[in-house]
Amino acid sequence: MSYQHKYVDGTNIHFPVGKVVCIGRNYAEHAKELGNPVPTEPLLFIKPGSCVVPLEDGFSIPTDRGSVHYEAEIVVLLGKPLSKNPSEEEVLDAISGFAPGLDLTLRDVQSRLREKGLPWELAKSFDGAAVIAPFVPAETFPDLTDIGIRLTLNGKVVQDGNSSLMLNPILPMIQHMAANFSLQAGDLIMTGTPAGVGPFQPGDQIVLELAGQERYESRVL
Ligand code: ZN
Repeated sequence: MSYQHKYVDGTNIHFPVGKVVCIGRNYAEHAKELGNPVPTEPLLFIKPGSCVVPLEDGFSIPTDRGSVHYEAEIVVLLGKPLSKNPSEEEVLDAISGFAPGLDLTLRDVQSRLREKGLPWELAKSFDGAAVIAPFVPAETFPDLTDIGIRLTLNGKVVQDGNSSLMLNPILPMIQHMAANFSLQAGDLIMTGTPAGVGPFQPGDQIVLELAGQERYESRVL
């Protein structure tokens, strides 16, 4: 299904769907569960806008490329472009909304790429690899260091994190991203996944929640 940014009340947000700038291993417990060292500098990667699909009515996963892992993440929508060296106030002012999302990952493919020291696009940038719920307005969360993210899979809570546990908190993370990539209105930031990642199967029922402000039921088609 085609994707457009929108708010939880159904209103469309009239920014183009830009790129998705992501951070890997931003929660120590998640780095540990995959046997990865905690990075000394933020590990950034980008998914193109063509990855993005809406969460609401179910979403498809690849079925012929090994395991497809869920990574539940707090997603930030930018509503203004950022300069190369924005202040924390400028980053805050550019944030248009927050949503829960899924950074889908072909884990077997990623493991093979990682072993060979190759880039991750084949594992992270396929069509449908960024599943995004509608946004709550930025002012819903005055404290960016206390936003909860939870994923329930077939009735069992599998991921339950909070931005307080991030190794790179949201504002400095976006400052670091802006220093490396031009960030524009309509770009999305995926802020890393807490521990508990695992595989999806077609038919899975999920509930994705953001800090008690948003609760979405959906399913894997
Ligand atoms: Zn991720």
